[in-house]
Amino acid sequence: MRFSGCRVLREGLTGNTGWKPHWRDPEPKAEYDVVIIGGGGHGLSTAYYLAKNHGITNVAVLEKGYLGGGNVGRNTTIVRANYFLPGNSEFYSHSLKLWEGMEEDLNYNAMHSQRGLINLFHSDGQRDAFARRGNAMINQGDDAVLLDREGVRKYLPYLDFDNVRFPIYGGLLHPRGGTARHDAVAWGYARGADQRGVDLIQQCEVTGIDIENGRVRGVQTTRGPIRAKKVGIVVAGRSGQVAAMAGMRLPIESHILQAFVTEGLKPCIDHVVSFGMGHFYISQSDKGGLVFGGDLDFYASYAARGNMPMMEHVMEAGMTLMPMIGKAKVLRSWGGIMDMTPDGSPIIDKTDTEGLFIDCGWCYGGFKAVPGSGYSFAHLMATGNHHAPAAKFRLDRFRTGRGLMDEEGTGAQHNLH
Ligand SMILES: Cc1cc2nc3c(=O)[nH]c(=O)nc-3n(C[C@H](O)[C@H](O)[C@H](O)COP(=O)(O)OP(=O)(O)OC[C@H]3O[C@@H](n4cnc5c(N)ncnc54)[C@H](O)[C@@H]3O)c2cc1C
Repeated sequence: MRFSGCRVLREGLTGNTGWKPHWRDPEPKAEYDVVIIGGGGHGLSTAYYLAKNHGITNVAVLEKGYLGGGNVGRNTTIVRANYFLPGNSEFYSHSLKLWEGMEEDLNYNAMHSQRGLINLFHSDGQRDAFARRGNAMINQGDDAVLLDREGVRKYLPYLDFDNVRFPIYGGLLHPRGGTARHDAVAWGYARGADQRGVDLIQQCEVTGIDIENGRVRGVQTTRGPIRAKKVGIVVAGRSGQVAAMAGMRLPIESHILQAFVTEGLKPCIDHVVSFGMGHFYISQSDKGGLVFGGDLDFYASYAARGNMPMMEHVMEAGMTLMPMIGKAKVLRSWGGIMDMTPDGSPIIDKTDTEGLFIDCGWCYGGFKAVPGSGYSFAHLMATGNHHAPAAKFRLDRFRTGRGLMDEEGTGAQHNLH
């Protein structure tokens, strides 16, 4: 089934009776060429690109809950390519290019909106750092515009420019940055993978990984054992637990990140605004809700919910930046489990077990990486070779200390990245 304007019109006029489920609900087979553990954004896009780019369709995605119920459906939907360090820079640049063609490729409306992202700065030193970042972005082939105070005021007149602690000096505008509808991205990749023959198996938790003579043989699940020639672990916040099933100890801590949404309001915030010094960022959804978030809850946890002190901190930062937000009513808040690495950059690599691969460590920035990660991980799983844009995301950098990518310069402490 293809989506089109005519189709939507026809269904609207005929009672919406012609829509079919977007994917099948198959029983797991006894054996697959490839098993992907985790039906989040990265697992689904990996399955899609395995089928599309490499013709590997005897693939199962095993999801313990429902597709898109993890972080891919819990994030604040920011999509950008404003990284600084070699390694990250080329990867996110590649991922953003995939975003720009994704809806056409998937024939799915993910509501990708390149409304522009503005990172604020509040001192001369920060201006220098952002000027440097902007140059790196331009050198990478992406876009960046350094705005002075009046330049920011033109776009964001509602901010408090003269806050005593954080007066606004200017901002770095990334015009191609923006937002997308997060769960639609999961659904679009799920549908595309299913159409190419991939089995998407929900309510199927992986409880063990079978390894014989250093080679992966398959997985144990709550729906029985499944044999596989290759297995990919793509479980975000649960990476440490699932990798432990293969005897691995990952350099990852799982931390909670919260987000908040207000009641629907008339359009008032056109851009994504990031107030790094206050650990606060905000955009407005197409439904009108102000979507915002802040920092991690700082303690390690597998509970997908947050606590009150961080909630208070985020609200205070919002009031500091834009006092008008105090008039909006918060509708709901939620949390997701972040797979934090010591340098804040991800891992896409083989493991010491033949046929077992891992894609994790996306910290709180993996939504924008969904297309790029799936593309590069599928390439690695299919060919055995690292895909160039993701070639620096090696697991052994945490053992050797070579190739670390500490984008924020915060040192080897997971919860500070
Ligand atoms: C509040 C919040 C805001 C965020 N904001 C942004 C943002 O603005 N921009 C951005 O780029 N990123 C953002 N992120 C980060 C981004 O959402 C994640 O990095 C990314 O979604 C993680 O990859 P994923 O989609 O594959 O994870 P998930 O959707 O979590 O997928 C992993 C899946 O694995 C499944 N699983 C786990 N264990 C097993 C098992 N044993 N067997 C089978 N299945 C299993 C889980 O149920 C889950 O569905 C945010 C995250 C949160 C929580």
